[in-house]
Amino acid sequence: MAAIPAECKPGYAILFEPVTIGPVTAPNRFYQVPHASGMTEANPRVRAAFRAMKAEGGWGVISTGAVSIHPSSDDSPLPFARLWDEHDVRSHALTTEAVHAHGALAAVELWHGGASVMNRTSRIPPYAPSGVPWAATHVGFMGQLRPRVMTREDIGDVLRWQAEAAKRARQAGFDIVYVYAGMGYLGYEFLLPEYNLRTDEYGGSVANRVRFVREMLEVTKEAVGDTCGVALRISLEELREKPSDHYPSQAHEVVALLADVPDLWDVKMDSSPTDCGASRFRPEGAHEPVIDFVKQVTRKPVVGVGRFTSPDTMVSQIRRGVLDLIGGARASIADPFLPNKIREGREDEIRECIGCNLCISSWHDGVPVRCTQNATAGEEWRKGWHPERFAPAGSSDRVLIVGGGPAGLEAALIAARRGYEVTVADRRSEFGGRLVFETSLPGLSTWGRVRDYRLYALQRMPNVNLYAESELGVDDVLELGAERVAIATGARWTKSLYSSLEIPVGVLDAPHVYTPDDLAAGAAPPGPVLVYDFDNYYLGGVIAEHLARQGLSVSYATPAGHASAWTIMTNELPYVHQALERHGVAVRTMSLLTGFDGSIARLEHIFTRAPCNVAVQSIVIVGLRLPEDRLFHELERRRSDWADAGVRSVTRIGDALAAGAIVHAVYSGHEFARSLDEPQSGGYLRDLPIADRGPGAAYVE
Ligand code: ADP
Ligand code: SF4
Repeated sequence: MAAIPAECKPGYAILFEPVTIGPVTAPNRFYQVPHASGMTEANPRVRAAFRAMKAEGGWGVISTGAVSIHPSSDDSPLPFARLWDEHDVRSHALTTEAVHAHGALAAVELWHGGASVMNRTSRIPPYAPSGVPWAATHVGFMGQLRPRVMTREDIGDVLRWQAEAAKRARQAGFDIVYVYAGMGYLGYEFLLPEYNLRTDEYGGSVANRVRFVREMLEVTKEAVGDTCGVALRISLEELREKPSDHYPSQAHEVVALLADVPDLWDVKMDSSPTDCGASRFRPEGAHEPVIDFVKQVTRKPVVGVGRFTSPDTMVSQIRRGVLDLIGGARASIADPFLPNKIREGREDEIRECIGCNLCISSWHDGVPVRCTQNATAGEEWRKGWHPERFAPAGSSDRVLIVGGGPAGLEAALIAARRGYEVTVADRRSEFGGRLVFETSLPGLSTWGRVRDYRLYALQRMPNVNLYAESELGVDDVLELGAERVAIATGARWTKSLYSSLEIPVGVLDAPHVYTPDDLAAGAAPPGPVLVYDFDNYYLGGVIAEHLARQGLSVSYATPAGHASAWTIMTNELPYVHQALERHGVAVRTMSLLTGFDGSIARLEHIFTRAPCNVAVQSIVIVGLRLPEDRLFHELERRRSDWADAGVRSVTRIGDALAAGAIVHAVYSGHEFARSLDEPQSGGYLRDLPIADRGPGAAYVE
């Protein structure tokens, strides 16, 4: 690791101190904790490049996501990695070698999912201490296989699999090996009395419930403890709620019983929505009240997370004795170079995570990680995109970008970093596009970082001209004569309705029917108001809450089964319902809006057709969005004038091309700017699995 440069603020130097973890030493306190990446042995180069980028950016420890130790821990169809036998070793070695090349340590999160996995591919009945399914598994993911009750022989098998996987991990070059007892997985199920009903020495008292995790740590230490640090990842939220006879809580008791057994404590919450909380509902550092005691009970180093992006908060966690290592998952995805930026006194250049949880949604989608703030995440190998390095401009072309929303600002930033002369024009007085309105809504202010990060950088670049209050028409664009034109004019919300066939039908264009664009322009719907949402992401729910906060009587209806149904993907769904309930919003699901006569909104159950009338004075439809692409098409029609004007290309980007979430707009803008004057292969680069031998069979013992 490089020495601390003089530019690093003295107060932040503590972040760059080494930390000993058993027999290994982390070069600094920046610890990329295990997090899902949607990358498995199916795409080993994508995975290695993604993890190595964070090592290059200064993270001292780089961890994998969950790595299954045996086919009885099979999370398919969700993506998960494996260390089942020697055939998986080389694939992981690609990552460890790439991480080591930058002076960082590599950690592997060995994992047995217990009752939380359905073993859909291996078809092995899942393992559980007492046959109790993990709540989120059968409620949330519709698995129909209930787990078996583990015998002592089964326990012995898992211990053996862990030890063997640990040896393979060492062979693959990992420096830190995990035992996982969190988030509903097998170790956690032994710790929690709701899942562990055993009457033998593994159940009952806390000391007995801890036994399995202790044995997992012991076998791991025996396997690799002289060369690798052994970490325990544990969820403490529920345990902290439980009273103990001799300690402030059962969490204290568990940590006291195991205090110095692991070389490192990695402490976290119990479920994805609380552990990986969205910024809409949970602030930076939200874990602290649950995990703040751990360092007082153990002498071993402690790592924890909390969507930390501010170096002041990080330093405070260390100085106050909460953490030794600053854990980052989302912070490291949004900005792999966060540590180096702090080290070099460039903390104002950090691309801060906005807490939107699009990254976790990619795992739920079963694809490599995507990030709203960092368009390069997951594309380091496939597209060769480096988050901080850019190919120099391939010509002296000038770039005109019409529209300064997320797509336009990202396109401008990347084109300018490449050295192009860039002009951005937006008709509004403020840059940010949809963010200007949306960040004024409840819980969404943090999303303003998408605009702020880009505008801050653009305003400091000499080759950038930013023009607000500048609506451009076709003649203006041609007159400006930039060789490259990007149309980033966004999308508009329509008043289309929705049918039970799940296609939009007709338009409800009546008085007192509004769209989010009308609200953004200052319209004030009279109450009572119905928010009718078939966009199904955040905005319908947020607008309902916003209007209720203004004192209006609000109901919310959607054809989906939940309010803001897609937010199940971003861990927000439970809190959306809680927020609507808290603000007195009546929620009607599975409802179609069929008409509105100015005082009655007619709803119909999507399946039974049962009618339901709601007395309202106005309706806000959050439904179909269509590209605002008139300018693009007008320019297309004037193609014959381009050459005289000097225009070489006109490209639609972001919502003006295809209306989507902010993540899509940023990616689209980034891709446009990266491809300027670059040869296009037209093909799709594919990563192939690494196999030590040709196709054939292999037994996992
Ligand atoms: P995206 O998410 O694709 O970036 P947004 O809707 O957030 O799209 O932003 C589009 C921006 O384009 C808005 O700020 C809007 O004011 C601006 N815009 C639309 N048409 C024009 C135009 N003809 N001239 C200048 N700015 C425009
Ligand atoms: Fe943060 Fe959103 Fe990126 Fe995830 S997708 S790392 S939450 S900005």
